[in-house]
Amino acid sequence: MASIALHDVRKFFGHHPVLHGISLDIRDGEFVILVGPSGCGKSTLLRMLAGLEDVSEGEISIGGRVVNDMAPKERDIAMVFQNYALYPHMTVAENMAFSLRLAGAPKAQKDAAVARAAEILDLAHLLDRYPRELSGGQRQRVAMGRAIVRDPAVFLFDEPLSNLDAKLRVAMRTEIKALHQRLKTTMVYVTHDQIEAMTMADRIVVMNGGRVEQVGRPLDLYDKPANLFVAAFIGSPA
Ligand code: ADP
Ligand code: MG
Repeated sequence: MASIALHDVRKFFGHHPVLHGISLDIRDGEFVILVGPSGCGKSTLLRMLAGLEDVSEGEISIGGRVVNDMAPKERDIAMVFQNYALYPHMTVAENMAFSLRLAGAPKAQKDAAVARAAEILDLAHLLDRYPRELSGGQRQRVAMGRAIVRDPAVFLFDEPLSNLDAKLRVAMRTEIKALHQRLKTTMVYVTHDQIEAMTMADRIVVMNGGRVEQVGRPLDLYDKPANLFVAAFIGSPA
C-alpha cells in the first residue's frame, strides 16, 4: 500500500497546457475516483502516476518517494485499462502470469500469484480457458488478475468498465469495490460516469478543463457542491 501526493502538477503537450496545477493527497488504502467530462485530463493524470507521461512541472510522490524521474516498472503500481486486450493465444493462467514471466519470476512464485488472483476473482475454474471462451465480465476479471498477480502498492484504473454493457457494468462495480475491501490497496480510478464515482469512491476528485473543481466524499459533493459545475455534473443523470 502507498499514499500518493501531487504537488502543483502541470502538463503541457508542446505549448498546450492540459493540466493546470493539480495538488492532491491520496491516503494509503484509499479508493479515489477522478471524474470529469471527456478531455478534462483524467487519463493524462493517471498516466503520469504510472510514469507513462512525463511531469512537465510539479512533483508526484508515491509512498513518500518522489517518482518524477522513476521509470514505470520501478513504481510499485499496476494499471487496468479500458481496452484490456488479453493475449488470445494464451490461457487465462498464462495471461495472468505474463508480467511475472517477463520479470523472470520463478515458476513457484508465478503459480502462487496466479492461484491467489484466481481465488480472489473467482477464476480458478477458468485457468485453462482461452480469452475467446470467456464472457465479457470474465475477461475483465482476467485483466484485473494480471494487475493483482504483481501485488502492487497502487492500482490505477482507466475507465475499466466503459466497454461493458450496462448490466455488467453495474455488477463489476460491486466486484471492484469488493476487491478494494479485500486487498485494501490504494486505488485511483478514472471514469466519466458520475454514478460509478458516487457508488464506488471513498473520495471523488471532480475535474474540469485540467483543473480540480472539488475533492470530497460522494455525499458531501452531492450535499455541498463547491460550484455550479460540480452541482450540474454530480446531479445530472448518467
Ligand atoms: P480524459 O481522459 O479526461 O478524457 P485526456 O487526459 O485523455 O482526457 O486528455 C486531456 C487533453 O490532453 C485533451 O485535450 C487531449 O486531446 C490532450 N492530449 C492527451 N494526450 C495527448 C498527447 N499525447 N498529445 C497531445 N495532446 C494530448
Ligand atoms: Mg481518458
